Amino acid sequence: MAGEPQADCLFCKIVRGEVPATLVRETETVLAFRDINPQAPTHVLVIPKAHYRDAADLASSAPQLVADVLREAGEVAAEEKTDSTGYRIVFNTGAGAGQTVFHAHAHLLGGRGLEWPPG
Ligand code: 5GP
Ligand code: ZN
Repeated sequence: MAGEPQADCLFCKIVRGEVPATLVRETETVLAFRDINPQAPTHVLVIPKAHYRDAADLASSAPQLVADVLREAGEVAAEEKTDSTGYRIVFNTGAGAGQTVFHAHAHLLGGRGLEWPPG
């Protein structure tokens, strides 16, 4: 069910502390941690602690959590000093777009030039 913890979900395991991660920020509803395979000098994943399969599911089921995730992404960007040079927030949605973990997450990317359009 949307929002319920999933036993086999990698990011639910990180939320529960069963899989280690390098935490950057934590609030009551959101966790931010460094991507294990960074694609930029700053590459942080910002997730709702509750389980939703993707950004659209999150938005339709728990819109306040979208605001929480985006606010925390902005806070991380400021802490990492990428807010002055620009950064990107990406929600890969669906396997064809590169989503590999089906627990909604924002990629915060910054610290280098970011091409547009993305690949
Ligand atoms: P997606 O491909 O679903 O948009 O993003 C999933 C991200 O999770 C990838 O960028 C991948 O590098 C990252 N990732 C996969 N496994 C782990 C892990 O165990 N720990 C951390 N911190 N990141 C992970
Ligand atoms: Zn999950």
